[in-house]
Amino acid sequence: MRIILIGPPGAGKGTQCQKLVEHLRVPHLSTGEMLRAAVRAGTPEGVQAAASMEQGQLVPDPIILGMVTKRLEAADCRDGCLLDGFPRTLPQAATLDELLERQAMSVDGVIELAVPRDELVRRMLARKRADDNPEIFAKRIASFEVQTAPLLDYYHRQGKLASVDGLGTADEIFERVQAALERFARDRHVRARQGRRDPPWPEV
Ligand code: ADP
Repeated sequence: MRIILIGPPGAGKGTQCQKLVEHLRVPHLSTGEMLRAAVRAGTPEGVQAAASMEQGQLVPDPIILGMVTKRLEAADCRDGCLLDGFPRTLPQAATLDELLERQAMSVDGVIELAVPRDELVRRMLARKRADDNPEIFAKRIASFEVQTAPLLDYYHRQGKLASVDGLGTADEIFERVQAALERFARDRHVRARQGRRDPPWPEV
């Protein structure tokens, strides 16, 4: 199953991603993690990305698309993957669709983890990460609202969006996530019956 998890910074994507990859047994593709690894390793991409990340801004597309393309074409992603932090803009989403289409694949479903802004700020103040100071955090939220939120409409129009309430315990939220997966599975069977792309995948 090919799933995208979308949520503002502080929505709890990390926890839900961990549960999702265990449940679906697919690789976890997190662009944030890939970038932090590149920064730690001091690669040319890492050096270039660090400047944007420290400012709470998006890393330029060529770096992101290069990393993601390579990862998506790897054999372990053949039967599915969980995309986390990508796509983050409409051009990235369009590029992803093209990339998958070339391999006769597509996105099965997109899960939005919805959390109100004041709750995000409250959570941020309770944790600590290098790009988490209040000013940078506000920029990351603004970037989400301006650049990433339009993706929700993009996937809604494709009939692939499930909005999940991100308030509650991690287990409660994961139950909602699982309900979304079941819906995606049903939709995929319907698409397959209608003769549209993507055969049903083995039950999870
Ligand atoms: P969060 O979801 O908490 O904002 P991530 O770990 O997903 O954090 O990303 C951290 C930073 O990495 C982002 O603020 C951004 O600078 C950069 N980044 C991650 N994914 C992308 C992407 N798809 N496009 C551009 N920049 C990205």
